[in-house]
Amino acid sequence: MAGGTALAAEGVEKVFGGLRALRGVSIEVREGEIVGLIGPNGSGKTTLLNVLSGLLRPTAGRVRLGAEDVTGLPPDAVAKRGIGRTFQGIRLFPRLTVLENVLVAASVPRPRGGAAWEVRAVRALEELGVGHLACRFAATLAYGEQRRVEVARALALEPRFLLVDEPFAGMNPAESDELVGRLRAIRERRGCGLLVVDHDLRVIHELCERVVVLNEGEKIGEGPPSRVYLDPVVVRAYVGEKAASRFAVRAVEAHDGFGGERG
Ligand code: ADP
Ligand code: MG
Repeated sequence: MAGGTALAAEGVEKVFGGLRALRGVSIEVREGEIVGLIGPNGSGKTTLLNVLSGLLRPTAGRVRLGAEDVTGLPPDAVAKRGIGRTFQGIRLFPRLTVLENVLVAASVPRPRGGAAWEVRAVRALEELGVGHLACRFAATLAYGEQRRVEVARALALEPRFLLVDEPFAGMNPAESDELVGRLRAIRERRGCGLLVVDHDLRVIHELCERVVVLNEGEKIGEGPPSRVYLDPVVVRAYVGEKAASRFAVRAVEAHDGFGGERG
């Protein structure tokens, strides 16, 4: 599936005052690939997304999009090159309609042309299953619906890479499962790369082909979820013995052909 252009952070450092929020982090997402980014609170996940999307300039290291060095480019220039993102907190305009909220993003001029922005906005809403909410005021939506509109707003820019910061936060399992399905379908249809930050290990396990684990600004693990969740260093720092044994059982079941069940 993956193989196209890569979005990469290379040896990224970010220092806030005396705090080293990122310590030489390297990460790569290829077009068509779904990568998870996990780690305890304060481990640097959002900071890394901010560096990748141009919101923060790294103290050291580089951000590369294919062959191009995009380190330190402003966020709008990064967005124009096809990197879209959502934010950890909901950032919809409450007194605009859902469609208006998405149009605000879709109307950013892009060099590549393509469909009219109204078309892109409606298409993005449909892909997130919230097309029927287009005329509702954002403030009147349920929490899970707002989350999906936020993803639609980023998607309307037709990014080659979509970075989502805790999109499953506050969702119940049914809502999470639906969003997993929709994100997969988006990857299939558009062939874009996804970088997904979340705390829900079950969802990350279901959705991602590869997981990167941060701890105190450092990358401490990387690989397929079933393997990473069992890595002793990762278990100690983050996953916990109980969760790891649950995933171990599931990995064995999948290996023996009894997979697909979730508990
Ligand atoms: P995560 O998303 O993994 O919870 P963050 O990237 O938000 O972690 O934060 C990593 C560390 O950097 C935390 O200690 C946080 O307090 C600090 N931090 C993040 N942004 C800033 C900022 N703009 N100024 C100062 N410190 C920050
Ligand atoms: Mg965060």
